[in-house]
Amino acid sequence: MNPDGLLTNLNQSQHAAVSSFADTLAILAGPGSGKTHTLTSRTAWLLAQGLQPWNVIVATFTVKAAREMKERIGKLIGNGMESKLILGTFHSISRRYLARYGHLIDIKKDFGIADSADSLAIIKRIVKRFEFQIDPKVARSRISGRKARTSVIDGGEIKKSAAKSIEAEEFEKCYIEYEDALKRSNLLDYDDLLLRCVDLLREHPSCVSNVEAVLIDEFQDTNLVQFDLMRLFAAHKKCITIVGDPDQSIYGFRAAEIKNYRRMLHQYPDTVTIALEENYRSSGAILLTALNVIEQDSSRVAKSLLPTHTVGTRPVLRKLAGAHKEAEWIVTEIQRIKGLTGDLLDLNDFAILLRSASLSRLIETSLGKAGIAYRMVGGLRFYDRVEIKTLLDYLRVISQPDNNDALARIINTPSRRIGESTIKSLLEEADGAKISLWSLALGIVQGKVTAKTKLKNPTEKNLSSFVNIILTARAKMGGPVEERMSTVELINFVIKKTDYEEWLVEHHGDVHKARWENVQELITQATDFQDSISFGYEDETLPEIEGLEQEDDSDHLSKFLANVALASEVKKNDEEGPTAQVTISTIHAAKGLEWPVVFVPAAYQGSIPHSRAEDTNEERRLLYVAMTRAKALLYMSYPLKNSQGEDTTLSPFLTPPSLAPHLDQKGPSLRSSTIQSIAQILRRGLPSAESISQSSASLLSVEDDLFPKEGKEDVHDMEVRLSCITGGNPTFTMGQNAPKRRR
Ligand code: ATP
Ligand code: MG
Repeated sequence: MNPDGLLTNLNQSQHAAVSSFADTLAILAGPGSGKTHTLTSRTAWLLAQGLQPWNVIVATFTVKAAREMKERIGKLIGNGMESKLILGTFHSISRRYLARYGHLIDIKKDFGIADSADSLAIIKRIVKRFEFQIDPKVARSRISGRKARTSVIDGGEIKKSAAKSIEAEEFEKCYIEYEDALKRSNLLDYDDLLLRCVDLLREHPSCVSNVEAVLIDEFQDTNLVQFDLMRLFAAHKKCITIVGDPDQSIYGFRAAEIKNYRRMLHQYPDTVTIALEENYRSSGAILLTALNVIEQDSSRVAKSLLPTHTVGTRPVLRKLAGAHKEAEWIVTEIQRIKGLTGDLLDLNDFAILLRSASLSRLIETSLGKAGIAYRMVGGLRFYDRVEIKTLLDYLRVISQPDNNDALARIINTPSRRIGESTIKSLLEEADGAKISLWSLALGIVQGKVTAKTKLKNPTEKNLSSFVNIILTARAKMGGPVEERMSTVELINFVIKKTDYEEWLVEHHGDVHKARWENVQELITQATDFQDSISFGYEDETLPEIEGLEQEDDSDHLSKFLANVALASEVKKNDEEGPTAQVTISTIHAAKGLEWPVVFVPAAYQGSIPHSRAEDTNEERRLLYVAMTRAKALLYMSYPLKNSQGEDTTLSPFLTPPSLAPHLDQKGPSLRSSTIQSIAQILRRGLPSAESISQSSASLLSVEDDLFPKEGKEDVHDMEVRLSCITGGNPTFTMGQNAPKRRR
């Protein structure tokens, strides 16, 4: 590996960051400035300096980002060692440590992961049992918020609320019962994965004694517990790199701490901070409009971000007669752009970004009608479909039968004539006796327990046949690794023993074919997963540490299940398939990504900012994130009436008069010649006009002639004059054929 080769394709600040010898390094910069690119290059550079990949932790925000980063590092280092990095989301990294060393803090082997649906099911059950008045969803988010806001490392403990209202008391009780239920089901929820990993590393710091470098992307969206984890990962060797952008902090509602950067400076006063000031993603016009939106937030710390691209065309803002019309307009525009740009763009180059997933229905219908393939990110997950979830529940119960909720869902699915009320009564009995449903069922079947719940003869027989399926499958999981049933074999075993296909036909009539295909897809995924572990692509095994007792964490089934539970946004066809697809995504899930053409529909008051959102600035940042995903064309729109038929008004983030000249608000759609000229820019490779050098200049205002007068939008290669606050000379030129920056 040639370390110098890694430093090409970097500007001066990026270069300095990648090859910095600082103990703690913070890269704070705007969207599209190459933060992720820099972090990836720095990881590769550290490996080139001789660090072993299994001693380097790289934390990313989503599973998809982790996968992309691994690929990019792979390309840079070219020796396949990227699969040995400890790379993933905070949750998946924590899970790895707990699977290996959890026994040191009394976590039972084969713990399962409660995803948010599981957590909600547990809370609903508690609320019902105690006849609480609190809303289960609110309780779930309060519980999660409380866990995520606790810095255990600083001696904090999860505090009881002092308030004495009935609601507060109910909540406290709910919290205790919830924790108890998780424990009895041998489950950790998402917050526990992080909290318990903090416990582990605090009590047994030698688990990470090998770690030589810690790198974190999207630092602005870390919470307190994740900050603690970072400190603990780096406890033996201080080599931390964080990258982030406070303007893109959009997870405050999930307890992300925008203040973590200040904490970082406090904890590591010698932190070297590097700014990146060039945007390599978006056209000048898109970037300037987005900056205009974010600059409305007067509390924010100003940063400089200059475009390296041609101006391009102004973002489009359109008002449509209704939500139907808006969806149709988007689809027509996609078809038109596709037609005008030929093979230059495929459907993968288009994204529709939504404030909330519930907005997708009409758009999906319109795309469907037009025969345009799409993938939906952040919507109903593949794994949440009933035919998939049921099979996964079987696997979860086989892996650890104390999972009450999973067991309760499958005990009569497919039907074994064990009635709802019987299941409910058994659950209550188990809860009352503080044992798991499985222990109770097993006791009944083996004649060791006389249940209070009276079971009729056929019911007891049916329960017994269910218990036997699970027991047989579990028996096949024991013994030496080579002899165990694989995950795929287990799935097939369940399908056979439960007459699963017949059940789908019976219950899902016409659509059973599609459902059966999904089942086949799950089998394919499990096969791929097994292969990727066997061939070492997905090597999640942590390095051995001398003197530490470690669990055998080679169990494929629990790895597979964890992968499913943590793959919050992965869905069937998420992989780049053979057919190109338009992406429909929530804005939250689009973080860090980019597309040539981006649509942001429903840009009205009540949608963005959302009527239930507490923090308007966070909503503005959300719009900023959405806008800065676009490379060449950005379309924003809103319908005259919302889904309740009420009149809408444009989002206040887009109404300031200063914004008007930046937006194209006239005409039904962009002129064909404009789209074609954008296509030409894309053909030449949109990036990298003259780099704007390392100026500390900050963009302040744009002269009028930045934007062409009506009818003259074809402006690639046009000369741009930007007034800069500092840097001496306010004028520079952008464009592929443009002369160098005037100094
Ligand atoms: P975000 O804040 O949205 O996560 P980011 O700062 O992480 O953005 P990247 O995704 O790393 O930005 O980079 C944005 C785009 O710019 C990518 O397509 C990347 O390949 C490109 N890029 C980054 N640095 C350079 C460079 N020095 N020269 C050319 N292209 C670059
Ligand atoms: Mg990024």
